[in-house]
Amino acid sequence: MSGLVRIIILGMLLYLARHLFQKFQQNRLEQAEKKRSEAKKKVESEKTVRCDHCGIYIPADEAIVDGEKHYCSLEHKEQHIRGNDQ
Ligand SMILES: [Zn+2]
Repeated sequence: MSGLVRIIILGMLLYLARHLFQKFQQNRLEQAEKKRSEAKKKVESEKTVRCDHCGIYIPADEAIVDGEKHYCSLEHKEQHIRGNDQ
């Protein structure tokens, strides 16, 4: 009987160890992925575009995009479109 208990405990320990190891590996993968996406984000935020209305340079991810044009704000986008209509 004690032999069976030992086998069961051993099996549980093996299962637990495998479970923890998988969790640990998953965590490492997630952190690596996070670091990669953060680095990518940083590169993207360093890209700048020029406002088509006032000519100021702004980070591409903060710009208002309208087709091929970029604007620093919604106001400038509207002012620019209105200005073109006249
Ligand atoms: Zn502007």
